[in-house]
Parts: sequence; structure tokens; C-alpha cells
Amino acid sequence: MKPHPDAAANPPPDPDDVDDDGIGGVHIKYLLHCPRQLWLYSHGYRPEARNEAVAFGEVVDDTTYRRHHDIDLGAAKIDWVTRGAVVHETKSSRQPSPQHEAQVRHYCLLLARRGVNVRGGVVHYPLIRRTTRVAWDDTARRAAETAEAQARQVSAAATPPPRLPRASCRGCSYRDYCWGDS
Ligand code: SF4
Repeated sequence: MKPHPDAAANPPPDPDDVDDDGIGGVHIKYLLHCPRQLWLYSHGYRPEARNEAVAFGEVVDDTTYRRHHDIDLGAAKIDWVTRGAVVHETKSSRQPSPQHEAQVRHYCLLLARRGVNVRGGVVHYPLIRRTTRVAWDDTARRAAETAEAQARQVSAAATPPPRLPRASCRGCSYRDYCWGDS
């Protein structure tokens, strides 16, 4: 079959040439939760490994939808992508959140940059048997690009952003760093 005439003029990007500056879905999620958390994460502080909630989330991820394989894009690891392409993300949370939708939008952006014709996304909440659909259109792409630029800016700052009010820090795995709790 002959290649499409536009193919030579506008080839799909080589995945190795795509520069996402190391901003992954976790960076976006943390940015929206607390910019200080993003800064700490970007600077190598990783208490999540000790956090029971995170460990629980990993167990849910490992035991749900086992037949799917994640897609590793370096800084970002997508739970799975179905034909179309639709990006899927599984959360152990019982509370749907805009942070999760933003994370999926970021994955859509990363794939779109690699030449994938993305159709949208779905966040799965197996513990409450719910799903949230995530649109992928021009508005969503702009939102994803804005969030990525903000995450880059926060990560590059010389000092961490201020703490949130303590009441907002409940359950955050970074409390010991910010407040001296453990
Ligand atoms: S403990 Fe509070 S201030 Fe510190 S990273 Fe977590 S949410 Fe942000």
C-alpha cells in the first residue's frame, strides 16, 4: 500500500525524541493536591514507600484487572490503554477526584505527543464500583499543557512552596517532613 502523501511531510514523532521533562502523572496529581508535595517529590523525597495507604493502593492495582499490562513512558506509567485509544487508570480511593482526571489527561497528552490518536480516558474505582470518563479534546489538551507547565515551574523552584493549612495535610505521607509527625 502506498504511504499517505502527508506521511513524509508530517511523520509521527519518534518516541525517543519526545521530551516530557520527566513530568509524569504523579507530578500532576501532587501539583493539584499540594505544590509543596510536588516539590518534595521532585527533589527526591519519597516517603510514599512507607505509607500504608500507598501500599494498599498498590495491592488494589496488582489484584484488579490483572489481564492488562501497564505502559511505561519513563516518568509516567499508564495502567493500560484499550483500542481507540482510551487511557485507563485504576484508583484505590473511594472518592473520585479531579486530581485523578488531571492525571489521565496528562497521560493522554503524553500519548498524543507520541502520535497516538487518543480518544479519551476512564478512571476506575473498583472499591466503589464506579468509573469516571475523561474527555480528550482541545480544551482538555490545553488544561493538560497548563498543568504540565505549572508542575515544571514548581519542580524547578529553588525552595519548597509553603505548607498547606495543617487541616489539609491529614493522610499526606509527607507530614513528617512538613510537620515533624511520623
Ligand atoms: S504535609 Fe501538607 S504541606 Fe506537606 S506536602 Fe503534605 S499536604 Fe503539603
